[in-house]
Amino acid sequence: MSATVPRHGLIVGGEETTTDAWMDVTDPATGVAIAQVTAASTADVDAAVTAAHAALAGWRRTPPLERGQAIARFARALDDDAERIAELIHREEGKPRGEAQAEVARACEVVHHFAGEAERLWSEMVPAGAGGRGSEIRPDGIGVVAAITPWNFPVALVIWKLAPALAAGCCVVVKPAQEAPLAARAVCEVANRAGLPPGVVSVVTGDGPSVGEALATHPGVDKVAFTGSRRVAEIIAGWASPRLKALSLELGGHGPLVVLDDADLDVAVDVAISQGYANAGQACYSVNRVLIPRSLEVGFLERFRVRMADVVLGPMATDRGFTRHHMLLEDARAHGARVEGGEDLGGNRLAPALVTGAAPGVRLIDEEPFTPIVAVMPYDELDGAIAESNRPDYGLVGYVCGQDLRRAQDVAHAIECGTVVINGWRVVVPYAPYAGWRGSGVGCELGRPGLEAFIRWQHVRVLA
Ligand code: NAD
Repeated sequence: MSATVPRHGLIVGGEETTTDAWMDVTDPATGVAIAQVTAASTADVDAAVTAAHAALAGWRRTPPLERGQAIARFARALDDDAERIAELIHREEGKPRGEAQAEVARACEVVHHFAGEAERLWSEMVPAGAGGRGSEIRPDGIGVVAAITPWNFPVALVIWKLAPALAAGCCVVVKPAQEAPLAARAVCEVANRAGLPPGVVSVVTGDGPSVGEALATHPGVDKVAFTGSRRVAEIIAGWASPRLKALSLELGGHGPLVVLDDADLDVAVDVAISQGYANAGQACYSVNRVLIPRSLEVGFLERFRVRMADVVLGPMATDRGFTRHHMLLEDARAHGARVEGGEDLGGNRLAPALVTGAAPGVRLIDEEPFTPIVAVMPYDELDGAIAESNRPDYGLVGYVCGQDLRRAQDVAHAIECGTVVINGWRVVVPYAPYAGWRGSGVGCELGRPGLEAFIRWQHVRVLA
């Protein structure tokens, strides 16, 4: 335990609260503690949920226009604090500064978007057929939401839950990952400072399993919105589902990039490099498998190696990821695949890896690597490439490159992923849903469906 680093308490009911239980937050490049956060107990979680309930009736009743304006003030305050929050991500997670700044900038856009959406939440009045006055169909916030988030996009994945939940009239208790709680906590601090009523946004830092269980089993939590691994998702579903809580699960992916025979290879290489190695491969939307027509493989690999030589990665955020990277490459070699790069560079840093000659049965082809590895797999028939895209039990983000857009769109429709990007690598926009299909999750975030995920509908039938 380091007593000299900054210490940050929980935020419960609009106030900072602390106990004498602290957890270190370390710089992944050095392993040195950079801060401490309070380790919340079950009683702290209960206090946060109780505060959220106390705030709920008032926040739900706040007219949508006013709610939208309050969220807009939060968005502007976040804009003003973006630099500081990005620096926290950089320090605690190891994400290079430019990527951290981009994460915060995109997250701010999401808050602005949902501030507007709050104003557009209106009821419908359906005229009655015979007799009566008709049917009012009105949206109502689902209630108290527990947002449980991972370390790899510590701000974005809080905001994707927080902004639409607030717009819908929900109160939120955020539980960030223990590896990277500082930036997520800072976001919640800004929400409170920007004038959201006390209790509308709380944050409980601490140990994942114990705080996660306290939230997902709490009778006062109406919805659990989780992003993270499938392993933990199954545990959380095991707590939340028998208690009939609403649940959304955003899990990992195994991104295919299907290169068509008319593709611009420079664009395809750009997509593979950008998405294969973004955040040192620790991204759910990573490109993991490049499916390339056999006739284009050599040209693609030549260009890819040139670009790969210039890639500089930040440190791996966890020791687990570092160890897993080497285990996956060792397994690929043992199966006869060729591995280029991927070596240790010191300070928890890795060189990006390129794997060729790997097929199903090799772990990195079957399981989400979550480390900086791109596998290139040649194909003879497009149908075979589509079948391989859909083979592993994931369905988050896929990519297609090809100049005939009609054909590229047909291929996109055949890829069983919640998002498919054609001829580029920018995946997320606030106004479109981001959904994990099949083993990548349940429900979705962002867009209109991501707002409705925090709404329960009421039908008021007026008969006389
Ligand atoms: P994780 O599942 O280990 O942790 C996620 C959250 O759950 C953290 O807050 C953690 O503290 C908590 N937690 C951990 N163990 C728990 C337990 N036993 N009970 C209750 N809560 C627990 O995931 P991670 O390693 O932080 O994140 C990586 C995963 O997240 C990858 O699979 C990645 O693809 C996925 N991910 C998905 C998306 C998406 O939008 N679909 C986005 C980013 C990351």
